[in-house]
Amino acid sequence: MLTCNKERLDDKIKTFSKFGDTGKGGITRLSLSPAALEAREEFCKRCKALGMEIKTDDMANIYATIPGEEGLPAIMMGSHMDSVKQGGNYDGILGVLTGLEVAETIVTEKIEHKHPITVVVWTNEEGARFDPAMMSSGVITGKFDKDIMLASRDIDGITFKEALEASGYMGNIENRATAEKYKALVELHIEQGPVLEAEKKDIGIVEGVCGMVNYEFTFVGQADHAGTTPMKYRKDALFAASKVIQYLHDELDKLDSKLVYTTGRMNVSPNIHTIIPDNVKFTLDARHQDPEVVKQVVEIIKKVPGVVEKCEVSCKKLWARNTVKFYPEFVHYVEKNAKEYGYSSMKIYSGPGHDAQFITDIIPTTMIFVPSEKGHSHCEKEFTPLESCVKGTNVLLQTVLDIDKS
Ligand SMILES: [Zn+2]
Repeated sequence: MLTCNKERLDDKIKTFSKFGDTGKGGITRLSLSPAALEAREEFCKRCKALGMEIKTDDMANIYATIPGEEGLPAIMMGSHMDSVKQGGNYDGILGVLTGLEVAETIVTEKIEHKHPITVVVWTNEEGARFDPAMMSSGVITGKFDKDIMLASRDIDGITFKEALEASGYMGNIENRATAEKYKALVELHIEQGPVLEAEKKDIGIVEGVCGMVNYEFTFVGQADHAGTTPMKYRKDALFAASKVIQYLHDELDKLDSKLVYTTGRMNVSPNIHTIIPDNVKFTLDARHQDPEVVKQVVEIIKKVPGVVEKCEVSCKKLWARNTVKFYPEFVHYVEKNAKEYGYSSMKIYSGPGHDAQFITDIIPTTMIFVPSEKGHSHCEKEFTPLESCVKGTNVLLQTVLDIDKS
């Protein structure tokens, strides 16, 4: 079977790890920052050397294409090059670099293909500098309002529009990915969780992206003196909140074992050690692939009483995402190819969000996961062994060639 080049892929990973290097094994490469622009420049330089044609759209998404037969839509691979603060060398960038390695293999080995083959770089996937995440894939698929996105500001007050214009990568709206121009998107990504490694699998056959809900609970009590108020007279909003967190854990643990849920944010007011808390807010993020389970989560949330420990309780939905299912034919190719290369694999749903989940609304899409060592991601410890990256690239290569023939 056809294979990509291990040394070349290693060189790509090592080269791009310099752009935004923190010196501690990771990178800080916020969207459209000087480090991100250096990475873009290197990417475009390498694509041009392969004879690829480079276009950018109005959100600075980059499309680098090997030509195919006239009039046929292109097959797209790729991901994002921006990172979170003190992030790792694999999240996003590995999807771009494996795409580039597939393109380089096709060009240098003169592998026949009918359709044009494109490597795409999505702008501002992380949302770490400009909120929200998956901004540009969201704009081109109509999820987000472009004008609102352009007004998004970083902590220095710079708007996304200003950063976009200064980047030199803002192109034409005509160049956006559309269903007419693209036949497929295959995004390779690290798993960002511990399952593939624990199950000793080389390849994650990604069937879709988990649905999720995110709720915020608010508890209103009475702020009083910690030294004078007898326990029986208190309205302690933090105590009420802790009771509800315990209730949620007890009830949610009765649902399917694949359900994951998190209270990641809590605000306690006034947050002074001598005052009984009178206002507490916390979030609950819950994710599962089956919409029915997500519905059961919401039913449990709705059963939280309006008054707990004499405190008023309210809750509101911050946001939600429906389960996304990827294109079955492409999912099948990934499964078949993993098997044909002799790699172990398993079907998996993505917990995190990816640009692919938005693009799938307009273009048939799937993803390939490779293992994350100890499940670490969004941190400097993020690591995927070169051998695993090579296996993922080979499956990506063959999947693109299968799509070309289909
Ligand atoms: Zn990512």
